[in-house]
Amino acid sequence: QSSRIPQPRANIGAIPAYVPGKPPVAREGLTTYKLSSNENPYPPLPGVVEAVSEVVSRMNRYPDMGNVDLFAALATRLDVPVEDLTLATGSVGLIYQVLQAFCDPADEVVHAWRSFEAYPIAVTAAAATSVRVPVTATGEHDLEAMLAAITERTKVVMVCTPNNPTGPAVSHSALVAFLDRVPSHVLVVVDEAYVEFVRMDDAVDGIALYRTYPNVVLTRTFSKAYGLANFRVGYAVAQEPTATALRAVSLPFGVSGVAQAAAIASLDAEAELLERVEELVAERARVVAGLSEVGWDVPDAQGNFVWFELGERTTAFAEAADAAGIVVRPFAGEGVRASIGEVEANDRLIAVAAAFDR
Ligand code: PMP
Repeated sequence: QSSRIPQPRANIGAIPAYVPGKPPVAREGLTTYKLSSNENPYPPLPGVVEAVSEVVSRMNRYPDMGNVDLFAALATRLDVPVEDLTLATGSVGLIYQVLQAFCDPADEVVHAWRSFEAYPIAVTAAAATSVRVPVTATGEHDLEAMLAAITERTKVVMVCTPNNPTGPAVSHSALVAFLDRVPSHVLVVVDEAYVEFVRMDDAVDGIALYRTYPNVVLTRTFSKAYGLANFRVGYAVAQEPTATALRAVSLPFGVSGVAQAAAIASLDAEAELLERVEELVAERARVVAGLSEVGWDVPDAQGNFVWFELGERTTAFAEAADAAGIVVRPFAGEGVRASIGEVEANDRLIAVAAAFDR
């Protein structure tokens, strides 16, 4: 018998690791806070918990694979046809589906860098090639450079707005000007995971873009503004035939029954959830102002997080945060991302930054 063993596809070994935000370690006499995963710090609404509990008693049964009720609720909420929607296991699931449905091996996927760390992972998993275009000194997408990076082999361009982890969002007019110049056969994914937190003039109107451009896919999530990170539900909005292609590669039953129920209940309770988003946006402004007072000018923060460019001092900053009982997300050699969290956690973040020797 041969001693050969199965070998994964050659590029599988090249897939970068996804580094999840660390949980806080319990400390004697000090409440600790997690600011490392851009989560929503608010506890679930009772109505959402109730909707979920009702499904828990049926955990031996598969969920509705067609996601019929959630599709209907979303279509109403967004005023788009059900046929243009895709639901998936988090919006990261949608990114995988886009790449799986559209990329042939060796196709290129252009995206900003640093941006969401799952992009190069998902691109490599799809056997495609990740083309990283550096963000500007202020953490913004360099749309000119991204256009220049498009080649004959480019199949998909990812635009992350607001950009995780740096914070700035692209403006609507800049994105329109960009889309007008992207070849029509190149798919443009507009990753709007943090769209509910954007407060700027000329903010992207994703639904208007989807209606205008047949090559646009919007991806959004219930993980951030709606506080359902644990349940893994995201959605895409795209015209046909893109939407059908995205659904064709869906993982069967990829959105659990609890996730469907929680998402529907969250849409029902949207006004209350968006009030919480408003509180977080106010906290974000307070944090940014507090940091500015102590000499830290962070990039324009349009998501539920702030970015500290720290280079070699990244680890030291993360350690100082740890010591203060807040866990942030270090990107070695680059900087630290900290979520906007509980008031006390945000206060500590400002204090850590104020005391930090750069
Ligand atoms: N896009 C961006 C820009 C993100 O930051 C994240 C989560 N960190 C996601 C997508 C994926 O979120 P989820 O899979 O929870 O919807």
